[in-house]
Amino acid sequence: MKTQRLTPCENGINTACEILKNGGIVGIPTETVYGLAANAYDEYAISKIFKAKGRPQDNPLIVHISKLETLCEIAKDIPKSAYLCAQKFWPGPLTIVLKKTEKIPCCVSAGLETVAIRMPSCELTREVIEKSGLPLAAPSANISGSPSPTTANHVLSDLDGKIDAVLMGDSCDVGVESTVITLVGEHPVLLRPGGITLEQLQEVLPDITVNKAVLSELEKTEAAASPGMKYKHYAPETETFLVEGENFAQFVNQKPNAVAICFLEESDNIKIEKIIYGSKQNPETLAQNLFATLRNVDKLGVSEVYIHAPEKSGIGLAVYNRLIRAAAFKVINL
Ligand code: AMP
Ligand code: MG
Repeated sequence: MKTQRLTPCENGINTACEILKNGGIVGIPTETVYGLAANAYDEYAISKIFKAKGRPQDNPLIVHISKLETLCEIAKDIPKSAYLCAQKFWPGPLTIVLKKTEKIPCCVSAGLETVAIRMPSCELTREVIEKSGLPLAAPSANISGSPSPTTANHVLSDLDGKIDAVLMGDSCDVGVESTVITLVGEHPVLLRPGGITLEQLQEVLPDITVNKAVLSELEKTEAAASPGMKYKHYAPETETFLVEGENFAQFVNQKPNAVAICFLEESDNIKIEKIIYGSKQNPETLAQNLFATLRNVDKLGVSEVYIHAPEKSGIGLAVYNRLIRAAAFKVINL
């Protein structure tokens, strides 16, 4: 299959919409990461997403909408808390898990009775949803397990020849995937941290709790509340360690054959090969650069990589959640 490169102008958007209406799959930019979109109501189109990504069949997809009316087509028994969250955080990087209606095919929800829904804020994404007239199921547009794509070229490097087209937009603003919460049980639960922080959610949902899988590895026998959390994710080929503590520079300087992924503020003190992934003072930059940095690690030809862990607060919690998976839960406490 030849993957079309579409420019993010009217013509390109129209072509993307035609492809989607005809059951094709298209890489599209969003404010979080690039998504691989298909008509959420078309089972055959959805099956193409799973095939192109090599995504396990039991990992459900997020459905993207552009207006609140569509919510009632997709979800039922919607609690008041969902509308409060929508009012405060939509459009934006928050995904809400609710009970699904019959309109959502089982393959989108991976057989669950629930569906994950988000209203993106990226103008291009919204235009594609509006002009196609479709809710779009869209997981991240990468090969399953590899770092999520934050540029159109990341999408092409994983999926060129496997998907119909890519809308060649800008790099993504947030850089990590959306926050996922469920409002189906007795109280709200954070399933995956992302662009909307736990602290922001607590203002609307004071009784929200954090699912165990956010910061620790599940036992093989434990069921995952969010199926995606049980899979190996974001891991470079190079053996990766997450390092917590202040004396990072001193620690990595004793590892001459490794590469350090560090904060801007400490980089002058690091004497081995290094990649700066952002500023500790400005953790949004860590999120923005995280996946591009992980994609670059394997090009360096070193045997080990040590990454300085961010604070587990604000957007730092989302960065930490991705890094602990990239490191296969190997954490060094200094
Ligand atoms: P991705 O689209 O690649 O960002 O992954 C979507 C994430 O949302 C995965 O971690 C899924 O497990 C999670 N997710 C999607 N639908 C549901 C659902 N119905 N219940 C719980 N988690 C879900
Ligand atoms: Mg993904």
